[in-house]
Amino acid sequence: MERKISTIGVLTSGGDAPGMNAAIRAVTRTARYHEMNVIGIMRGYQGLIDKEFVKFTSSSVSNTIQRGGTILKTARCGAFMTPEGRKAAYENMVEAGIDALVVIGGNGSLTGAQLFAREYDIPIIGLPGTIDNDLYGTDSTIGYDSALNTIVDCVDKIRDTANSHDRIFFIEVMGRDAGFLAQNSAIASGAEAAIIPEGSTDVDQLAEFIDRGKRKSKNSAIVLVSEAQKNGVGGAFYYADRIKKEFPQFDARVTILGHLQRGGTPSAYDRILASRMGYAAIEALLEGQRNVMIGIKNDEIVYVPISRAIKMDKPINQELIAVLNVLSM
Ligand code: ATP
Repeated sequence: MERKISTIGVLTSGGDAPGMNAAIRAVTRTARYHEMNVIGIMRGYQGLIDKEFVKFTSSSVSNTIQRGGTILKTARCGAFMTPEGRKAAYENMVEAGIDALVVIGGNGSLTGAQLFAREYDIPIIGLPGTIDNDLYGTDSTIGYDSALNTIVDCVDKIRDTANSHDRIFFIEVMGRDAGFLAQNSAIASGAEAAIIPEGSTDVDQLAEFIDRGKRKSKNSAIVLVSEAQKNGVGGAFYYADRIKKEFPQFDARVTILGHLQRGGTPSAYDRILASRMGYAAIEALLEGQRNVMIGIKNDEIVYVPISRAIKMDKPINQELIAVLNVLSM
């Protein structure tokens, strides 16, 4: 028989994402509703190793739903990648009486969660908290919609200046391995093209964009580019350099949006998504679920085994590529 869960720990890990606070709030309040104790773990896995534990009540999360960032702070923690680090984390959990964990983070954080759960047989529920939207099994991740809105705001501003000159602007957005931010912000901002990691191996997306030609009445262009991949290929500077060398008739400029994309208040969509997912995390634990990520599919909450969420590729819908290509003519 499953052990009764009376105390849960909640942490945020990896890159922060708008809506993480809404998720922490929902986890805390739902757990308290079911009379569970809640321990907020500061600074992700680092706090688990350093015993940075804070007892959370319903009022600990008051006035947080609208705030960006994460009140629990977040960190990248090298020590948790080692067996010794995870052993220390487990011993601290046991000492603090934590029976189950809710981990809010991206692919790396959920990879760590899966390893930890396997080694120590701990019930863990993952919430997809990342602006990249790169987790399989969920239509959206917490923070993605807010980041998309921030990017679109910035692109609207850049278009004003791009229109005043004859220029190609390469605007770099996050998403090293996933082009959701670039592709959808290109559609939403009426940009001329997106260059995304999903397409970079088989076609030369820059040459394709130039070949499509700039419409006669258009004397400027905006291209959304996903940041460089780990092998250094890609990124806005890479394509601007290529323009200089291969298409010198064009004047290219680069804007890197960087951490701006993570900031700001969460959108209404992300607040609702995070609230539903945080609520679902506790319901899942009460149902005896373990080692699943909460996802959303066709507006329904689903449970996705963490092993699938982190391993499977989440493809870009080809329709989005066609929509951008046709509408940017
Ligand atoms: P984002 O999508 O915003 O980058 P993320 O969760 O993918 O977020 P990472 O830096 O990849 O961010 O991972 C966060 C933390 O998760 C790491 O610092 C580490 O503590 C833990 N982690 C990542 N991968 C592993 C792993 N293979 N084993 C154990 N822990 C891991």
